[in-house]
Order: sequence, then structure tokens, then C-alpha cells
Amino acid sequence: MMEAGKLTEEYGCLVFSDKVMRERLPKDIYKAVKKTIEKGTHLELEVANTVAAVMKEWAIEHGATHFTHWFQPMTGLTAEKHDSFISPTEDGKVLMEFSGKELVKGEPDASSFPSGGLRATFEARGYTAWDPSSPAFIKDGSLYIPTAFCSYGGEALDKKTPLLRSMEALSEQAVKVLHVLGYEDVTRVNTTIGSEQEYFLIDKDFYKKRKDLLFTGRTLIGAPATKGQEMEDHYFGVIKPKVSAYMHDLDEELWRLGIPAKTKHNEVAPSQHELAPVFETANIAVDHNQLTMEVMKKVADKHNFACLLHEKPFEGINGSGKHNNWSVCTDTGMNLLDPGKTPEENIPFLVFLMAVISAVDEYAPILRLSVASAGNDHRLGGNEAPPAIISIFVGDELAEVLKSIEEGKAYKSSGKVQMAMGAQVLPHFVKDNTDRNRTSPFAFTGNKFEFRMPGSAVSVANANIVLNTAVAEVLSRLLTKFEGCGKDLSKEAVISILKDELIAHKRVLFNGNGYTDEWVEEAKSRGLLNLKALPDAMPYWISKESIDLFTKHGIFTEEELHSRYEILLENYSKSIHIESLTMQEMVRKDLLEGLFAYQNDLSREVCQKKSVLGDDCCELETEIISSLDKAGASMSKALKKLHDDTKTAEKEEDGLATASYYEMTILSDMDELRKYADEAEELIPEKYLSYPTYGQMLFSLR
Ligand code: ADP
Ligand code: MG
Repeated sequence: MMEAGKLTEEYGCLVFSDKVMRERLPKDIYKAVKKTIEKGTHLELEVANTVAAVMKEWAIEHGATHFTHWFQPMTGLTAEKHDSFISPTEDGKVLMEFSGKELVKGEPDASSFPSGGLRATFEARGYTAWDPSSPAFIKDGSLYIPTAFCSYGGEALDKKTPLLRSMEALSEQAVKVLHVLGYEDVTRVNTTIGSEQEYFLIDKDFYKKRKDLLFTGRTLIGAPATKGQEMEDHYFGVIKPKVSAYMHDLDEELWRLGIPAKTKHNEVAPSQHELAPVFETANIAVDHNQLTMEVMKKVADKHNFACLLHEKPFEGINGSGKHNNWSVCTDTGMNLLDPGKTPEENIPFLVFLMAVISAVDEYAPILRLSVASAGNDHRLGGNEAPPAIISIFVGDELAEVLKSIEEGKAYKSSGKVQMAMGAQVLPHFVKDNTDRNRTSPFAFTGNKFEFRMPGSAVSVANANIVLNTAVAEVLSRLLTKFEGCGKDLSKEAVISILKDELIAHKRVLFNGNGYTDEWVEEAKSRGLLNLKALPDAMPYWISKESIDLFTKHGIFTEEELHSRYEILLENYSKSIHIESLTMQEMVRKDLLEGLFAYQNDLSREVCQKKSVLGDDCCELETEIISSLDKAGASMSKALKKLHDDTKTAEKEEDGLATASYYEMTILSDMDELRKYADEAEELIPEKYLSYPTYGQMLFSLR
């Protein structure tokens, strides 16, 4: 285990960090790389050659024999292909080589990655291009180089390219707006993200025994345990020793990779936990979140756990998400979402706050889609955090500030409130200006917004691509209005423009409880959309608004949008298809085997007992046998329907129609089958089942 005293030394020891570059690169080369990282300027091959040579030396010193371009194709996972540094010489030996060309460009065969029709399989060529702004690192004996991935024609085939484009678009508009507001020293604005990651840990042997977890990541059948999360005893509860050992190991692995893991705690559901890192620049944070998920699984395996990242691994208890904390910060060090002591006078804050509010309202369907997946639909469409309706929580103080803008009145701060805890021995402190609202999908939390809809299993890139672009668009609109006011833009003029925005978009503000039926009704009357399932939301992705938004800011071409549309639909349908097949097999083979064996044993017992006691005995046994029989018959019917409907689904050709069919028909067939399967499982003793129950999986960790 890493000694606490060694932490500062070991932190980031596997990262080709700024410090390593500063120490090892010639000064002019270091400066050139820094300029590329900070200003996004082009990097000359000569510079790349030197960086590659230094990188190689450093990597070999740290035990690497290979290098790989590391990228994020549209599967939502990461991809890698390793090449060794070796280059054979004539005398039968090898040299270790790595050129600038190999560093900056890779040519993986792109034909087997999803492209959504962007590229025919015969045009297999794809390129990976080094992203110098995200540091290279060493893992499992290879030097990992973060890269963007595109097709021969230059279309983005990954999540990093559009993310980088969106960060630049946001920066461009934000800088212009800040200049007009008089902050002329700002040259770049950075998107920052802190992505809290929820996960479940269960015993590895249990995991291996469940086909549903193995193939789909979630349980497809399973009667609820007699205890769930109703006692509210898991959230922030004492961390069990085995879990704590896992968390220690995980932290250390992440720290070596330069991932600033900061907070860990138990979550609401039994066996559910969370890890939160310190925030970083968006593209690095996204890379680090992808790595975090991978390391979580790897370390779990070492500890005899399986780490479940699915959004809804268990029915009836909370699922997992990824809270995307998002802010924008200038290169002069100003957090644009920090209200400061007097938010009502903080013009940049009010402008950016309003830009986010308008962006979220105006592009709500696209934002909803940015977090859509078959897995996440179970959270957003179900009765748990957060609902599928997008609204914003700003807290009482900011609500008052906004109200004063709307009403054109002066805002009077109630001042910071001292917290009185009623005991002298306790420290006195000032209350935060917002309370928490755990039900809001998009909450202002002090100096950042927390977008709580992203699912636990998928990349947070999409959410941030949409958020950045939508805010960039509103900023560009505000800029036009500000510029329309002539040279001397007064504070009053800015406030009056913000007032118009507020009136147009205040319907999205909601400080109440987002879980109630009343909110669903009220949201409807406000005209807010409730897009419960992915297929409902999909058409918005290729709508005119979406195409206009993304093409205007150079994030996606229309073709790229269409390709992502196809991929998302296909992915959704395929996920449910696999679930259907897995469920059919599990019910048919695993559950029914247990059911029949138990029924058989009971029947035999009945025969034996009756031969001794006569026909008047065995009331209970007979009742169970008959209940199992009934459940079996219902299951058989439901199984047949699911089977036949799945066959029908396979024949459907149109992407959206197929996805809708999977959502409307297959998912409800699965619900129906599950109902009977769970009824039967409740009656069958555990020893008859070849797979572990909810109770065993969720409550047996010590
Ligand atoms: P809370 O308790 O409100 O969730 P925390 O301080 O625990 O707030 O932060 C939660 C997450 O938000 C962490 O990952 C943190 O690094 C991140 N965060 C804090 N400030 C910012 C910021 N300016 N931009 C982006 N993320 C941030
Ligand atoms: Mg939080």
C-alpha cells in the first residue's frame, strides 16, 4: 500500500505530465508544446519528433515496451491497439524506436467501429490524432497516448473530437462576450468538469453465476430482497472493511495515473458507492472518467468483486448516475459561475447564469438526448432521481436576485446567515447561499451547475458537448444584443437584455420537489417536455434546431449528426435485443430448472406423506405446487410472447421504428415475464436456484 508520506511523490508518477515535460524537454520545444496545449496552435513535426524521443525514454524507464493511441469510438468505450517500440537491426538485435509521426498520427482500421453510415466498410481507413492537451500515461506496460479518431474524409468517429470542438466554440463566444463587458484581458475560457461516479460492488462469484449481469450488466429477473433501501442506513454509512480496502487500492491506482480521486462514500442503495474527483479541464476530465471506470472494474476483480456500472442493475432500488459538475473559468482565473458576495452586481456571473438557463430551456430535448441510453432510460423514465423533465434549481437567493431583475426592482440581500447549532462547543459558520435539492436534474450548487442526468455507464462527453454548444449559442445571441447597444454598454442595458431572456425562459426554473406527480402536471402546463424514453426524444437530434445549432458552431456536420442518430438507435435496439435473449435463456434454463426440481421434490414428499398419513395431509405443499404451476403456466405464455415479438423485431428495418418497437413491445413483454418469474422465485428456496438472489447479492458483503 502507498505510504501517506509518499503520496505527493507517487501522485501522477505514471503520467507524462507538465512537470516531466518541463524537466526533460529542451526549453524551446517545451514552450512550443505548451503553446499548443494552451492556445490550440498547430504542432510542427520537428517538435513532435523531439517530444516522441523524450516520451519514449521516459516510458521505457517506467517499464513500457509498447505504445498505443487511445481513443473513444462511438461505442462509448475506449479503444487501443498496441505496437511495441522495437525495431529489429541487421545483427539480430533490436532498437527501441518511436517517431514524431507515430506520436501524432495513427491509422487503425476503422471498419469495425460504429460509423452510422459515415463510411462504407471498404473505406476502412481511419486516423487517430494526438490530443496534446490530455497527458499521455503508462498502464500495463504500454504508453497510452490520448487521441481523437476520424474517418478518411475527416468526419469525427469519436467523442473527443466534438468535445474539443465544443470547448473551443464556447471559449470563442465567451471571450467575445467578456470583451464587450469590459474584460479585455481574457483570451480563453475553459470548461471545467468534476464527474461524480456511482457504482455497485458485488461478490465476483455471484456475478459470474448470473447470465443477465454477465451479458447485459443488469438483473433481468429477481424477486426483491426482504430488505431494500427503506431504512436509509447505507447512505454515508460506515464503509465495510473489504469495500474500504477496495477503495484504498482504487484511489492509489487512480492517483498514480494522475486522476485526482477525492471523495468516497456509500450511496443510497445497499452495496452502492460513489467516487468524486477534483474537477479538471473538460477533455481531461472525460478521459479520466473513462479511465476511472476501467480501473474500477480492474481493481474490483483483484478484490474478488464485480463492479457494476450499469444505470439500473437492480429493480426496486436506486440506480447509478454520474453527476456532471460543470463550470466555466477564464484564463485570468475568474470562475464565471461564482456569484461572489453580491451576485446582483456581478455582471459576468449574471450573464453566464442566464446563458445557462436559456441554453438548458431552449435545447432541453437535445440535452435529454445527450444522456439517453437503454440503461439510463430505467432511471430517467422510472420513479427515481432525476426525472426525465429538464428543469433548473437555482436556490432561494438566486431566485430572489432573478426576481428582482424580472421586476426591475433593487435586490436586497438578506445577508449571510450564521448557523446556530444550539451548542456553544460547536463551531459557528456561515450558511451556504443555496440549500441542496437532490431531485433537480440541473442544479446550481454554489459556483457550478450539477447536471445529474448522465448515466453511470456512459461517457460524459456527450452531455458536455451539448451543454457547451448550447451555451455558446446563447452567448452568441446575447453578444449580438450587447453589440446592438452601441459602444458604451451600460449595466442597465445588460440587465434589461437579461430580463428579456429571463422572461422567455423562466419556465425552466423550478426549486420544488421534482419527484411529485404535481410537478409532472405543472411541467406540462409550462410546456416542458417529459421525454421518458430514448425513441421519444430521438427525432429532436436531427431536427432543424439541432442541425442549425451544431453546424453553426462547427461541432457536427449534418452527416455526423445523422451518423450519431443511427448509432444511438442501433445501440438502443441491440441492447434490448440482447436483454430479451438473455432473459429468455435465463428463465427457460436457470429459473425453470429450479422450479421443476423444487416442484418435483415437493410432489415426491406429498406422495410419501400421503402413503403414511392418508389423503388429508399436505395442504401447504399442495398449495405451493399449485402456485408454482400457475406461475409456470403464466411464464410459459409470457415467454412465448417475448420470443415471438423478438423475432418480429428482428425483421423491422427502420432504425426509429425498431427502437420504438423494442421500447413499447419488447420491454413490456419483459416486464410481464419478470412479474411471473419473480413470483415463482419468491417461492423457491435458494438451494434450488443456480444463480444468487437479490438478498445474497446486495447484503452479503462484509
Ligand atoms: P457538492 O458537495 O455540492 O457535490 P463538492 O465540492 O463535493 O460539491 O463537489 C462536487 C464535484 O464538483 C467535485 O467533483 C468537484 O471537484 C466539482 N467541482 C467543484 N468546483 C467545480 C468547478 N468550478 N467546475 C467544475 N466542477 C467543480
Ligand atoms: Mg455533488
